[in-house]
Amino acid sequence: ALDTDALGAWVREYARAVTEHREELTELDSAIGDADHGTNMHRGMTAAVAALDATPPADAAALLKTVAMTMISKVGGTSGPLYGTFFLRMSGALDDGSPAAFAAAFRAGVEGVVARGKAELEDKTMVDALLPAADALTEAVEAGQELDTALRAAADAAAKGRDSVTPLVARKGRASYLGERSAGHVDPGAASAVLLVEAAATTLP
Ligand code: ADP
Ligand code: MG
Ligand code: MG
Repeated sequence: ALDTDALGAWVREYARAVTEHREELTELDSAIGDADHGTNMHRGMTAAVAALDATPPADAAALLKTVAMTMISKVGGTSGPLYGTFFLRMSGALDDGSPAAFAAAFRAGVEGVVARGKAELEDKTMVDALLPAADALTEAVEAGQELDTALRAAADAAAKGRDSVTPLVARKGRASYLGERSAGHVDPGAASAVLLVEAAATTLP
């Protein structure tokens, strides 16, 4: 079941992945931002894991809430409040530990990011990876696919979304200040969002 232990493993794997890829994420941000996305995500997720270690959460909702509050308080960049909102909305939407409940909560998290950041598809942000992932996950779960197949589809959709906006001009966030010069670069937040869904695909099934 998608219980406290399972979601804890997801969060820990995400922290590990952003740490592994932190230089790469910062490099992407140095091309079209202020060269801190890897540092931001590493700092926030490492602090989130430390908070979970210090105070083991009572349930899955409490776990995601701790991650959310830590991201919001420890990350100065735009990505902190946005990922914080994702985990917070997901926490509030968790129902039972079923794949359908997880898919619905994931979608609620993504909708929170959209509501907070006001980015639309093709604005070249993390939303371009997260929204297709939420769609693919919902569709696969509704079609009765196994969780591993559904999460693989979600991770693939996230990567496809990330790549689809690489040629585009950014319309939100710091990268949008560059205008046309933002085209041809991978969006750092879309790249970290792919890691989030990949971490789900490798730990949750
Ligand atoms: P900052 O830009 O404050 O330094 P980060 O570098 O950590 O923060 O994060 C940058 C990423 O945040 C971008 O690559 C983009 O994916 C995402 N982002 C920026 N603005 C928005 C927004 N309004 N909605 C969704 N995502 C956004
Ligand atoms: Mg930045
Ligand atoms: Mg910054």
